[in-house]
Amino acid sequence: MKKIALYPGTFDPITNGHIDILKKATEIFDHVVLAVAEDTGKNTQFSLDERKKLCTEATAQIERVKVDSFPGLVVDYAKKIGAVAMIRGLRAVSDFEYELQIALMNKQIDSGINTIFLVPDYKYLYLSSSLIKQIIRLGGVLDEFIPPCVGQALKAKTNNTDNC
Ligand code: ADP
Repeated sequence: MKKIALYPGTFDPITNGHIDILKKATEIFDHVVLAVAEDTGKNTQFSLDERKKLCTEATAQIERVKVDSFPGLVVDYAKKIGAVAMIRGLRAVSDFEYELQIALMNKQIDSGINTIFLVPDYKYLYLSSSLIKQIIRLGGVLDEFIPPCVGQALKAKTNNTDNC
């Protein structure tokens, strides 16, 4: 039976750090579903449709990956697609407490779902979507850390805001 993993997140927007984790997950699992959370509790810069579209475009060349979105509880969605594991990325120590909390809570809700933590390549260890947004807003160039479509989308957002 094919082993499916779920990689959930806010992806506001997707970065090369996320993509690095996704690629690593495809080396372990037969299929990986990257799923954009609809109910994040976060004030996102990009709408759900925009986040999903950017994820689809940025991962188009990676085989055995599907992009989707989900409302409500991630464990319900994981069950719905028949995922055997949930993938999360661990960067610096600061991620650990938060990620452990979520993993334990998800396990409490559904003991059948295990969370697997993957560590990105060194150069992505301190990369986050919020840092990217901040730097682009200030006019910085970060081509090494974001897919081209994300760079364009961020610049368009910044220009729109400037014109307001
Ligand atoms: P969430 O709001 O669910 O934390 P994010 O889009 O911020 O969604 O992150 C999704 C997952 O990807 C999280 O597990 C996060 O730790 C991981 N992640 C984000 N950026 C990186 C990165 N640069 N390297 C490795 N993992 C990352």
